[in-house]
Amino acid sequence: MDLSLSDEQQSFRDTARAFLDKEAVPHRIQWDRDEAVDLAIVPKMAELGFFGLTIPEEYGGLGGDYVTYALAMEELGRADSALRGIVSVSSGLVGKSILFFGSEEQKQEWLPQLATASKLGCFGLTEPGTGSDAGNLTSRAVKDGDDYVLNGQKLFITNGTWADVALVFARTSDDGPRGVTAFLVPTDTPGFEAREIKGKLGLRGQATAELFLSDVRVPASAVLGEVGKGFKIAMSTLDKGRLAVAAGCVGIVQGCLETSVDYALNRTQFGKPLAGFQLVQDMIADISLDADAARLLVWRCADLVDRGEPFGTAASKAKLFASEAAVRAANNCIQVHGGAGYVDEYPGAKYLRDARVMTLYEGTSQIQKLLIGRAETGINAFV
Ligand code: FAD
Repeated sequence: MDLSLSDEQQSFRDTARAFLDKEAVPHRIQWDRDEAVDLAIVPKMAELGFFGLTIPEEYGGLGGDYVTYALAMEELGRADSALRGIVSVSSGLVGKSILFFGSEEQKQEWLPQLATASKLGCFGLTEPGTGSDAGNLTSRAVKDGDDYVLNGQKLFITNGTWADVALVFARTSDDGPRGVTAFLVPTDTPGFEAREIKGKLGLRGQATAELFLSDVRVPASAVLGEVGKGFKIAMSTLDKGRLAVAAGCVGIVQGCLETSVDYALNRTQFGKPLAGFQLVQDMIADISLDADAARLLVWRCADLVDRGEPFGTAASKAKLFASEAAVRAANNCIQVHGGAGYVDEYPGAKYLRDARVMTLYEGTSQIQKLLIGRAETGINAFV
């Protein structure tokens, strides 16, 4: 097994880190306090290839591999998870759904715009009444002549107020998960409304929204994939999404390691650097171990994707471990910093607040355990 990175992969990582250290890290505290990143960074990120990395060249992307994608998500997570989410929802969840399930017309229309971030996408699955149990969602799409008319509500939708296109999952028949269909809805369609949710614990730089669909009329050509296959599309797309979340968490752990080591070497107590105390090294060793273990799970999963092998369980393991590791590492990071760790001038506090949601979205930690448990035992313990 070769765990070394190619020259191209290393070069992409170095370029990404240099860019984010200059364009994101100095601003992340203010963005977090303002509850909005400066969207002027989006086209610059697109220029570097963050949005188009794994979208094929024929659709305006770079056609890159998933190990490089994981490196990009790690660097984004180390810099600011709010940015990571904007990219991985727009070009990941939405872009990949279109790439793998869309018609040629849908690919031609949306992928070049998502790859260059001239348009942003959002992924509308969760509803007020259905989160983990997404297969029972209640938003409705009713056929009316050549159109569909959508009604319903979506909750906690990343990029919701910024998106130009929403991938909306709605019920076309009363057949549980098999009655769900995916629709590509331009957000300027009459009847579509997005309202931002304020007051989040973390990811405060990112727009999270409620979506309201009131008689939203779209042509039948807005159906993504086949009628009744929407739930399958959502689950398949979320597998790759989990890889992105996990890689972003590796970035959080890596950031915690770097800032903890730096602080411990430079802060003196009892006449010597904090780094010289065994109990402080204990915390740093735990963060370092979490970084390595999470990264190896992520790379393993990315490599499976690149080889075209099944990767769903590997993605669940990577997401489960890396998200819990990110929370642990951020807590350790704060502890290494003492009182300084509790204020946002040092990154530990923001890392902790951002990491906390990673154990919740794209399938909670409990849901990942049920997926892994089902793969190991063959028994579905969801219901
Ligand atoms: P619930 O499903 O109600 O779960 C509550 C608790 O019960 C959890 O601990 C859960 O693990 C546990 N639980 C539920 N079912 C079981 C079971 N069968 N066995 C054991 N335990 C169980 N959604 C989107 O569609 N698009 C987005 O872009 C998006 N972005 C988000 C951004 C943020 C900041 C947040 C907070 C959420 C986002 N979500 C998004 C929604 C997210 O995916 C859901 O919150 C998540 O899936 C959990 O659903 P829920 O909140 O309804 O919790």
